[in-house]
Amino acid sequence: MLHAARQFQQAARPRLPPPWLYLSCVSRLLPRYHAATAFDTYCSPRPFTSTAAMPSAASPGAYTPPTSSADITSFTHHLAASSRILVLCGAGLSAASGLPTFRGAGGYWRTHSAMELATYDAFTTSPDLVWQFYNYRRHMALRAVPNGAHYALAELARKKGRGCLTITQNVDGLSQRAGHPASRLELLHGGLFDIKCSGFDCGYEQQDVRTDPIVPALEIKDGDGDISSAQIPLREIAERDLPHCPRCKTGLLRPGVVWFGEALPEATLDRVENYMLEGPIDLIIVVGTSATVYPAAGYIEKARARGARVAVFNTEAPERDGGSGLRRGDWFFMGDAGVEMPRAFEGVIGSPESYPREEDSNRGANLRT
Ligand SMILES: [Zn+2]
Repeated sequence: MLHAARQFQQAARPRLPPPWLYLSCVSRLLPRYHAATAFDTYCSPRPFTSTAAMPSAASPGAYTPPTSSADITSFTHHLAASSRILVLCGAGLSAASGLPTFRGAGGYWRTHSAMELATYDAFTTSPDLVWQFYNYRRHMALRAVPNGAHYALAELARKKGRGCLTITQNVDGLSQRAGHPASRLELLHGGLFDIKCSGFDCGYEQQDVRTDPIVPALEIKDGDGDISSAQIPLREIAERDLPHCPRCKTGLLRPGVVWFGEALPEATLDRVENYMLEGPIDLIIVVGTSATVYPAAGYIEKARARGARVAVFNTEAPERDGGSGLRRGDWFFMGDAGVEMPRAFEGVIGSPESYPREEDSNRGANLRT
């Protein structure tokens, strides 16, 4: 029994795949999917059939088409009856707030691939460029507002308490600003508003630093234009003017996000793993990403093994020729998650007017502009 538990424990823990695999999978988060990759094979896509969604026990091999309004009833019943829920949020959730995500093969900032900028090597080589990239993202994230899906998930977390755990790949802080209970939210890729010392032996870190700009030299003024465009000149910033560590005084501070090539946060993975091992999972909700790409596919498989049915909210229809990752008894809600999710949850958490939708008060206080 113990051996079996360990086997599951090892299998349940998602690890950062090798860079080539990660890049191919992340690139598929974009609406324009690539051709089949090695990861598709790993995900064991199911063959397409025209079987309609049925609120019955899951059976492998069946494709579930986009859910009709009638299927919301079956979803609502299952959501209400679910005592242990796992939620996985992808980039599409932030895109619904109008936030550029710089994910995938088309994810360029100026002339630079966002994936190349999101590395420790890039930070070491060009800390001013990398800081300007992240400063821009912080700036944009503070101007974006949480959408209906952020608020609905926050309310679901409050309603279900320890019976709901949300994992987000997004670093923009929008879930937190929507009031998602911190103890029920796991940040798989860290956060834009967390900072830490880049020195190896310092250990300084601070969470939720929303000051914009974080140092005067990084200020984006209204007259600067959109510096994500290569047509707009980018200032050169001396290293002495970048954020420095207040503890060791010598190290540069860096954003507290997980860069390519870095390990996912161990404590976060442990908490997710422990939650999944505590008992059966009734439902896994995937929002803003395809059910067939990492890490959604991995979590879905693990949740299924614990008894879960699957509900996907995404703007793009599932791939038919490459497999949807869905089965009979699952749900697929196509469209703007900010609209579809509050509607699908309404029978359990109430209408959007009935739960808090005010952003937390820290946002305005830390904005200088
Ligand atoms: Zn330091």
